[in-house]
Amino acid sequence: MEPNLIIYAIPFFVVTVILEAVLITREQRERWIEAKDSYTSIALGLGNVFTGLFTKALIFGIYTFLYENFRFFTLDTSQWWVWVLAFFADDFSYYWFHREAHLIRWFWASHKVHHSSEKYNLATALRQTWTGNASGSFVFYLWMPFVGFNPIVILTMQQISLLYQYWIHTEAINKMWRPFEYIFNTPSHHRVHHGSDIKYLDANYAGILIIWDRMFGTFVEEKERPTYGLVSNLNSYNPIKIAFSEWVDMAKDLANAGSLKNAFKYIFAPPGWSPDGSRKTSEELKKEAGIK
Ligand SMILES: [Zn+2]
Ligand SMILES: [Zn+2]
Repeated sequence: MEPNLIIYAIPFFVVTVILEAVLITREQRERWIEAKDSYTSIALGLGNVFTGLFTKALIFGIYTFLYENFRFFTLDTSQWWVWVLAFFADDFSYYWFHREAHLIRWFWASHKVHHSSEKYNLATALRQTWTGNASGSFVFYLWMPFVGFNPIVILTMQQISLLYQYWIHTEAINKMWRPFEYIFNTPSHHRVHHGSDIKYLDANYAGILIIWDRMFGTFVEEKERPTYGLVSNLNSYNPIKIAFSEWVDMAKDLANAGSLKNAFKYIFAPPGWSPDGSRKTSEELKKEAGIK
């Protein structure tokens, strides 16, 4: 199987989470960091690594089965350009995975965890799902083994993307060099993605390259700093509660769905959908606010 880069990065995460908290002013610390919130994020990160130990093998097995039996080409791992191609293919897949993770409640139920902090700092980056692999987020990458990318290359690229996205979770960097902001995902772009302000909803889905958002019309520039978190926050520091909150809510909705059509929509419609419109999706919120 592929090397587990995330495990090797843990000491680096520990050192930089501490440095970020120590090297800022007292006033910044009070605004940006809350110890209890950071501990919750770290617990969710450890839980993600732990669940990954079991689910990664399954996904590796599925990719390998498709690669061994159905691939159209053989993209030779020893060629450098195959890795370059894999980088773009992975980042493109990530963009669409992430966009659908905000648009389809089934995938949102896992991804919501990452958005549940009302703070934005390096520890927030570690706040990761426990259920993403098991609920099928890998389907957005299934085309890659068919084309002929080796499963090891795919899983390595996914880890590189996750590692890249770590450093952009900070308030400490305002804007990077202009050309860099144009091409790459940055703290500024990703702060917008974590904003619960209506004008910032459903924007900047990028992993490493922000160009996908610019190409597919989801890019929003950071004007002022966002209010972080969810449209309706969980108000909990309990990692178990956070990891399963949306699944629990979905189960409750399904129990009261009343019809098959409603049940289907409770699972696959955008988060916030309700049969009587008593809750709001982000699109409805934007429409009400006169945005787009
Ligand atoms: Zn997101
Ligand atoms: Zn994030």
